[in-house]
Parts: sequence; C-alpha cells; structure tokens
Amino acid sequence: MSLLEIEGLRARYGRVEVLHAVDLRVEEGSIVALLGANGAGKSTLLRAICRAVDTSGSCRFAGMDLDGRSTATVARLGIGHVPEGRGTFTDFSVEENLRIGAISRTSFRSRSAVQTDLDLIYETFPVLREFRRRPAAALSGGQAQMLAVARALLARPRLLLVDEPSLGLAPLTARDLFERLSGLRDAWELTILLAEQNAKLSLAIADRAVLLSRGRVVHDGPSGDLATVDAIHADYLGGG
Ligand code: ATP
Repeated sequence: MSLLEIEGLRARYGRVEVLHAVDLRVEEGSIVALLGANGAGKSTLLRAICRAVDTSGSCRFAGMDLDGRSTATVARLGIGHVPEGRGTFTDFSVEENLRIGAISRTSFRSRSAVQTDLDLIYETFPVLREFRRRPAAALSGGQAQMLAVARALLARPRLLLVDEPSLGLAPLTARDLFERLSGLRDAWELTILLAEQNAKLSLAIADRAVLLSRGRVVHDGPSGDLATVDAIHADYLGGG
C-alpha cells in the first residue's frame, strides 16, 4: 500500500476544472517531484490533497479516505503543507512561528516531545536558533523558507507537501535548501511531495518524478528517466 493513493482526482475553482482525473501514488519514505509549467496545476494538486479546494475523485492517505474531511482534520491525520509564499507570521519571532507549528500537539505529554523536536530543528537549521528571538520578517528568503518547512515539521507530519520552495531564492541558496530537504526525509522519517518548476533541483533529490501539463499527468516514473532536463524544459516548462 502506498502512503498516498490518488485516483481520478478532479479539482475546480468555481466552474473551471483545473485538474482532470489525476492519478498519483506516493510510496512511504520517498521524495516525489511534481513538475510542470506555471499554471499546470501543481499548487492545486497539493491544495486538493489538503482539502482546501473543491475536489472529486479518490484520495487515500495511509489507507484512510480523505473525502469529506476538513483541512484541519487532514493536517491532524499527518499531512503537512508548506504553501507557496511560505505563510509564516512575519511579526512573530522565529520561535513563536515554530511553536505555532506544534499547536495541534497540545497534550501535556507531548510538551517535552515538542521541546525535543525544537532542539532537533535547531540542530538542522542552526540559523533559526541564532535568530530565534528575532521577528520572522528579519529572515532572508532562504531562511524564511527553512522556517516555513521547520514549522510544518513541528506538527510531526508523515507526509510533507512543499510548494515551490525555490521561488525567489538565489541558485546556491535553493540548492542548499534542497539538500536539507533530502536530509530531513531520513531524520524525520518523512515522505515528501515537492511541487517545483525547477526540474533540475528537484530531480537531484527525488526518487520519482510526475509531470503535470494543463491539469493532467503526462509522465510518471523514476526521476532518472527524466535525465534530459533540457528536453523537459522545452516540452513542458517553457511551452506551458
Ligand atoms: P504556479 O507555479 O504558477 O503556482 P501551478 O502549476 O502551481 O503554477 P496552479 O496554481 O495550481 O498551477 O494553477 C492551475 C490553474 O488554476 C491555473 O490556470 C490558475 O490560473 C488556476 N487557479 C489557481 N488558483 C486559482 C484560484 N484561486 N481561483 C481561480 N483559478 C485559480
């Protein structure tokens, strides 16, 4: 059984359908790159998994049907979402943002577990420890993206959906962030679905790649099969 099993998933904004019968499987412990041009439907697919957009079709997580569940329930079941644009609270301190990520773990028993996870986050991202009392607004783009990922991790998700993490980052910063994401998979026993326009960066860390074009899956296979990044670019990324 795959951790995430999607069959015939459709999503719409009002009367406009933007995902057309998408099938997708994500194996536990894998990193799957979701590639495609601007407007292909990558963000919408992540939102559909989180139940944040009008959907139909089958979506199962760890054997559970997500149909009819709220976004909050889906998060509690173990799906973390790092939205495009990061969604951190810029007036709050770095550590306040991280603690907000852990807010669903409210029981007294989980308090020490949260502290342990916070220490683990600070080991992984030392810059967040250094800036923990500063407002999130003071972080650079790369640091803010680390904070967004770290905040999602504090809810202890099994599946992390990351939307366009390289957006607005300098190439070296983006590469560093992707290497850290790859490391997190092992350290946090994560499964990652990564929506990215930057095929080269994501194929370097992904096990599998799924290519979306105009709301349909046009390729699904081992990331090595998509070695000719230039061809992908010409066919799907450049051409839309
Ligand atoms: P991007 O990299 O630009 O975010 P994407 O592959 O993530 O691209 P989506 O953002 O999922 O693509 O957009 C898919 C389609 O849905 C596009 O045609 C877009 O214009 C449309 N769309 C996205 N969000 C909304 C919305 N809130 N209301 C109406 N249409 C939307």
